[in-house]
Amino acid sequence: MKSGILLVWGMAVGLAVAATAIELPPLPFAQDALEPHISAQTLGFHYGKHHQGYVDNLNKLISGTPMEGQPLEEIILTTAGAEEHIGIFNNAAQVWNHTFFWNSMKPGGGGKPAGRLLECIEKSFGDFDSFKKAFTEAALTQFGSGWAWLVQEGDALKIVKTANADTPLAHNQTALLTCDVWEHAYYLDYQNRRKDFVETFLAHLVNWEFAASQMK
Ligand code: ZN
Repeated sequence: MKSGILLVWGMAVGLAVAATAIELPPLPFAQDALEPHISAQTLGFHYGKHHQGYVDNLNKLISGTPMEGQPLEEIILTTAGAEEHIGIFNNAAQVWNHTFFWNSMKPGGGGKPAGRLLECIEKSFGDFDSFKKAFTEAALTQFGSGWAWLVQEGDALKIVKTANADTPLAHNQTALLTCDVWEHAYYLDYQNRRKDFVETFLAHLVNWEFAASQMK
């Protein structure tokens, strides 16, 4: 009788935790699907250890706070710029940024976008090659860890870089595409050659259909 009650209580607690925790979304492709450009080993660490680590840290940090059970975007907006919540913001934003990064790539990606996105890129940057140049420049000049982004602000497209965990979501910008330029994103495959990684990202990995789907 007593053990039965404990079992039911344990299941209820387990369910409650599962219902409110932030979860690691599945990768949108197999772990080896981006080879030879990004190895299964890199994705194993990057997704399986780093991204999972941010999810685990975030769940620990929000446990027992009013943020437990809130959607990820809401946690990011609540904690952005608040010094006392910097740890929660960093982990929440890194969870969001990494999910966005996986979606920014696909096997057999790269090349040029089409339709309205291409028109907007040409309007905002002059032509597609100028966009590629500016995006690569942003990715290479982000000092230390961070991200390069294509974002939409009103009708205009812009390239921005963010440091560490910072994210366009916290700056009222609509993210369309991102490249992770933390060393953990490329070091196993490219060592210190960040430029090769960013050029490979643009040439072979970008998921332009996903970027187009994010436009407002
Ligand atoms: Zn990363």
